[in-house]
Amino acid sequence: MSDLAYPLPGSLAFEDAPLRLTVDLGALVENWRVMARLSGLARTGAVVKTDAYGLGIEDCGEALHEAGARDFFVMTAPEGATLRAVAPEARIFVMTGVWPGTEQILFENDLVPVIASYEQLTHWMAVLADYGPYPCALQVDTGFNRLGLTVEEALELAVDSSVPMAFSPVLVMSHLMCGDTPGAPENAAQLASFRQIAAAFEGVEASLAATGGIALGADYHFDLTRPGIALYGATGGTALGVPLRTVATAEARILQVREAKAGEAVSYGATHRFTRDSRLAIAFAGYGDGYPRGLSSGTILQRQDGSPSGRAWFNGHLLPVVGRVTMDTTIFDVTDLPPGAIRAGDYIQLFGKERPLAEVAASAGTIEYDLLTALGLRYERLYLRDESF
Ligand SMILES: *Cc1c(COP(=O)(O)O)cnc(C)c1O
Repeated sequence: MSDLAYPLPGSLAFEDAPLRLTVDLGALVENWRVMARLSGLARTGAVVKTDAYGLGIEDCGEALHEAGARDFFVMTAPEGATLRAVAPEARIFVMTGVWPGTEQILFENDLVPVIASYEQLTHWMAVLADYGPYPCALQVDTGFNRLGLTVEEALELAVDSSVPMAFSPVLVMSHLMCGDTPGAPENAAQLASFRQIAAAFEGVEASLAATGGIALGADYHFDLTRPGIALYGATGGTALGVPLRTVATAEARILQVREAKAGEAVSYGATHRFTRDSRLAIAFAGYGDGYPRGLSSGTILQRQDGSPSGRAWFNGHLLPVVGRVTMDTTIFDVTDLPPGAIRAGDYIQLFGKERPLAEVAASAGTIEYDLLTALGLRYERLYLRDESF
């Protein structure tokens, strides 16, 4: 995390913090083991990009490393350097590859760049001419149209006798577009392409499956799998067939409980007008804390569960959002709770053990990945360390 001069994470005791995030590292490790079982004979990596999906790369990376994970995937070289400090035995792959200026960080921290384009390959060859042998991985684009050498470029490279001896790929990888959709024809097409690549780079390890691909079965596993979202307790829409444990629970403090009269409105734009005398609980959490504005009432989102807005959990009750979510606060209707049941200083659960992340994401018209990585800097974090890992 950067040391921005606001919110001061770490400056308040967890019990006193207005926004709290509990990260269950025992659950994280158990989820990794679940994905390892589903990965069959393949080795199971861990994707900890984007600060471990918002949950903290140092704590999550260390726990996974202690549990035996040895192949980690990050996006940038600085992320890799942060991870290296807590994962001394790991192989760390940097998925944006090599950029001029990042070589030193790669070398000093023993990070493996995932060459992501032909341009990068050319640059990497020039770097090796000075530096000598150093491992790399190759990303091959089998249909996603995002990152990687084309299949043709990769097949040519595999038989190119002019590549320097210092060039030593240790992994070829590709990424599925529709891994969460077993019937999608793109899966079979990408698998066929990737099989060609794996065969052309015989002796080099191969990796195709993220969370979704792991559930597609053994054909997709190759040597190494790359689960991300499943480790953090979410499926990303994949039917895994086995339960995952909740890792992240986000809670927000109620700043004030107030009464509003029938006919009055609430929040920006006055989008919600009360049809009865109402009691409101004002929570300290807004879109600046990753509580999406799409959870406002009166938005155009069609919610799958038929509810008119997002909902938070409090002592067995689901509290509906009323009016617009603002940057720092969200207003919940608590009229149906007994008077005095919720007070200033209480905490409501935005998502977590009692309020499934997937439901909140669907309600906001987005995905679990988006909610986790948007959490922001104001949460005080508590890491639960289960002795079992
Ligand atoms: C993010 C990412 C993953 C992990 O995907 P999940 O769906 O979170 O399991 C794996 N591979 C690549 C290339 C990625 O970008």
